[in-house]
Amino acid sequence: MRFSKLYAPTTKDAPKDATLPSHKFLLRGGFVTQSGSGLYSFLPLGKIVLDKIRDIVKEEMDEAGAQEIQMGVVTNADLWKQSGRYDEFGKELLRLKDRKNNEFVLGPTHEEVVVDIVRNIVKSYKQLPLHLYQITTKFRDEARPRFGLLRGREFIMKDGYSFHDSKESLKQEFDLMESTYRKIFTRLGLDFRAVEADSGAIGGSGSKEFMVLANNGEDDIAVCDSCEYAANIEAASRTKRTTDVEPPEAEFAKFYTPTPVKDSIKHIAEFFKVDEFYTIKSVIKKAIYKDSEKIISFFVRGCDTLQETKALNACGALELVDASEDEVRDAGFNPGFCGPIGLDEDAEFYIDHELKEEKNLICGANEENYHFVGVSMFNFKDARYKDLVAVNAGDTCPKCKGKLSITKGIEVGHIFQLGQKYAKAMEALFLDNNGKAQPFYMGCYGIGVSRLVAVMIEASHDEKGCIWNKQTAPYLLDIIVSNIKDEEQNNFANELYETLDKKKVLIDERKERFGFKMKDFELLGFPYALIIGKSLKDGFVELIERKTLEKTQIKKDEIKEVLKGILS
Ligand code: ATP
Ligand code: MG
Repeated sequence: MRFSKLYAPTTKDAPKDATLPSHKFLLRGGFVTQSGSGLYSFLPLGKIVLDKIRDIVKEEMDEAGAQEIQMGVVTNADLWKQSGRYDEFGKELLRLKDRKNNEFVLGPTHEEVVVDIVRNIVKSYKQLPLHLYQITTKFRDEARPRFGLLRGREFIMKDGYSFHDSKESLKQEFDLMESTYRKIFTRLGLDFRAVEADSGAIGGSGSKEFMVLANNGEDDIAVCDSCEYAANIEAASRTKRTTDVEPPEAEFAKFYTPTPVKDSIKHIAEFFKVDEFYTIKSVIKKAIYKDSEKIISFFVRGCDTLQETKALNACGALELVDASEDEVRDAGFNPGFCGPIGLDEDAEFYIDHELKEEKNLICGANEENYHFVGVSMFNFKDARYKDLVAVNAGDTCPKCKGKLSITKGIEVGHIFQLGQKYAKAMEALFLDNNGKAQPFYMGCYGIGVSRLVAVMIEASHDEKGCIWNKQTAPYLLDIIVSNIKDEEQNNFANELYETLDKKKVLIDERKERFGFKMKDFELLGFPYALIIGKSLKDGFVELIERKTLEKTQIKKDEIKEVLKGILS
């Protein structure tokens, strides 16, 4: 490609809201352009990278036996009503109406549509298993679209859906997809982990996320230092926390404890001179359901923090928001002095499972300025106990005796065993080998294809710009003509360019200063530049590796041989 013809509008500065390297460099390099909040268009260089990623994903999916299809972006709302997700999905689902007042949604994921495609057509276990996938545009009206392609509203996803006649067959496909995803992310050259995950709005059980380790990740992941265990903080567990600090043994009693409402746990621990481990704190939230709201208290150890996704799963709400003091009081809780002992049988509360059958605790007495000491946790129903707390760095691994650490990751893929949830709701049945009608077992498997374009940069860049690897670079080599008025330089560069693969090689013959062209090379991040400059007179050209910015003088007669290795 000739740079003079390439539409790659590079700029020196990035918009103020672009804080992450990938966001800045994608915009500054003219890989993409923004057309609205969370909406981006791919320009030629961005499109090449996107297609390269798409090709790798497609090759590996096809190799695994999945078949590519393409479903519409606009989907019929009736299907979403059948599955129940029309109401459950919340505000990320963009609902719309046509001129005849028919309801539609812009597909944020396509379980409903794919179920509709196979139901009534795939009728027998003999036609199973079946795996259909697509690589297309999704729309999610994200609350906070940000970080460029990492969290857009419109984005490109590979989404695959498999259908099975048994749990075992589903598990086999799930394992095959795990190894397929490992191949894909390995081919992309990414440092990733497959982690245990929460299943979110899509539902089902048994799911794994693929996380690329990156400082700018939005997800926290717990990783064991001695075994394979890795999990999203939303789903991470630990071996029950213990302490060497002596318990504050005391008879059950009520104490006068005038403390400020804020930071009350710290004050209480100091007041009684005990470790926060032996205190119970209450985190009170307003839980939003489809048609109602509830004020719920979550009880956890004073030294732990409530993990919001775990809390959501415990109470089954759509969302948890802060509750006002009045709302808390109206619900019968005493802010600052709320404890599980003495609450009504029908009060809304959950207790962290690690507190079950624990003794020698201190908690609020549900009375202004009073706390209980010598509390034992024996008299609560099992249903009250849930895993509610976030795992911390230094906690003990649930699988071995190792220590957990917390690192940042970016989610690039997610695989789920959905089971029969959608097939049951949408009455998608097949006949098993006894002639009995059964709902399909399903799996679903996503990869953030457009997010990966940004992830490649988060994983590999410096302060000057992108550093693409061979697998994803828009071009592998940038031939820079240092002075285009110099006929010898021009001729040499052009003759060389004509012998090379124009899909892999870019020739920068623009009427610009050398420094300007070098800056573009560094920003755009092609793996190599070949400088045709002054030393050509002495029979030399200069090869620069983008990653290290190391320069090597090469005899002009030997350059073709050297380029063979780079371009192969
Ligand atoms: P996240 O937790 O990051 O919102 P998710 O759990 O909603 O992701 P899935 O529903 O599993 O994501 O979608 C599959 C993949 O699509 C994700 O692994 C991610 O790579 C990508 N993806 C999801 N939301 C976005 C988005 N808003 N912009 C770009 N890519 C996205
Ligand atoms: Mg999401």
